[in-house]
Amino acid sequence: MSDHNTLGEILRERGVSRRGFLKFCTATASMMALPPTMTMAVAEALEKAPRPSVIWLSFQECTGCTESLTRSHAPTIESLIFDHVSLDYHHTLQAASGDAAEAAREEAMHAHHGKYLLVVDGSIPLGDPGFSTIAGISNLDMLKETAEGAAAIIAVGTCAAFGGLPHAAPNPTGAVSVSDIIKDKPIVNVSGCPPIPSVITGVLAHFLTFGGLPELDQYGRPMVFFGQSIHDRCYRRPFYDKGLFAETFDDEGARKGWCLYRLGCKGPMTYNACATMKWNQGTSWPIESGHGCLGCSEPDFWDAGGFYKALSIPTSDLAGAIGTGLGVGAAVGIAAGAMAHKKKTDAEHEREPLTVEQLEGES
Ligand code: SF4
Ligand code: SF4
Repeated sequence: MSDHNTLGEILRERGVSRRGFLKFCTATASMMALPPTMTMAVAEALEKAPRPSVIWLSFQECTGCTESLTRSHAPTIESLIFDHVSLDYHHTLQAASGDAAEAAREEAMHAHHGKYLLVVDGSIPLGDPGFSTIAGISNLDMLKETAEGAAAIIAVGTCAAFGGLPHAAPNPTGAVSVSDIIKDKPIVNVSGCPPIPSVITGVLAHFLTFGGLPELDQYGRPMVFFGQSIHDRCYRRPFYDKGLFAETFDDEGARKGWCLYRLGCKGPMTYNACATMKWNQGTSWPIESGHGCLGCSEPDFWDAGGFYKALSIPTSDLAGAIGTGLGVGAAVGIAAGAMAHKKKTDAEHEREPLTVEQLEGES
């Protein structure tokens, strides 16, 4: 198979029928949250899409992001996406090691200069270049060198997107995110600890289809997957609105599926697609399994004030709402909703979402 084949040619070589290709396009459009009417546009774009080279670098990380991705292979869409990108370098998945591995990275950088996609998981230590090295090259130098010829960068996981666990106080290695270092390339942050596999592949599919990155939110995350809070889409929301909260993980409320707000759920402040895309091939997600959201897709979530501590709602907001005759649950709901909205609105004033055209203009 040549790297110059288009995706359409590769699928035909593999015996995928036109009907199978259109099914693939429908699934791809749905994964990118596009309406069904976009299927033919996706088909046309994918038919001509070249097979992109992908270089994947892992820095200060736990390999959870790669594990998340590789354990989610049941949907064929994901294996198809990965069969049809040229994954030229990945520390964990590649067969080569030592000099041969580094030669593969240099060859891909040279052969596809300006066109390859760089995926990064893990944070970068600035405290001392020797804290984390690969083949004797510091993470900082490897990132700068590899980013130079990249068309775009996907920062996978909260460590690459925001610094994550290594960045948590007291941050002994001086860990920072990819966007703290690289300023002259389009970067999309697919945060989460780990990120949802279908969101990673959705962003890859978008790049493959349209040759650019999707619209991003104020934290550089794709709006289609991070545009709504966990709380907005949580199936326990009716209990929250009625003021029905579990007080312990094994009380009657917990058994009845009541809201986990008082057990520390950070869903009202967390933007991610868990409630809709779920995990393990759509089987379940943390709140459905009885545990509150930890806020893992948000910046500084490790330092945010306790996984099992309830979010604090200003008493003035509660009193105002209760004074109008609303119940405590509804009042808490309004206050938390207002806080989440305020956070979003403030951030939007700082940075409007970028369009693909703007991102391409920046590169
Ligand atoms: S607080 Fe958590 S459990 Fe309760 S409705 Fe919101 S997201 Fe769901
Ligand atoms: S429910 Fe919250 S903590 Fe759990 S994976 Fe989703 S965003 Fe992360």
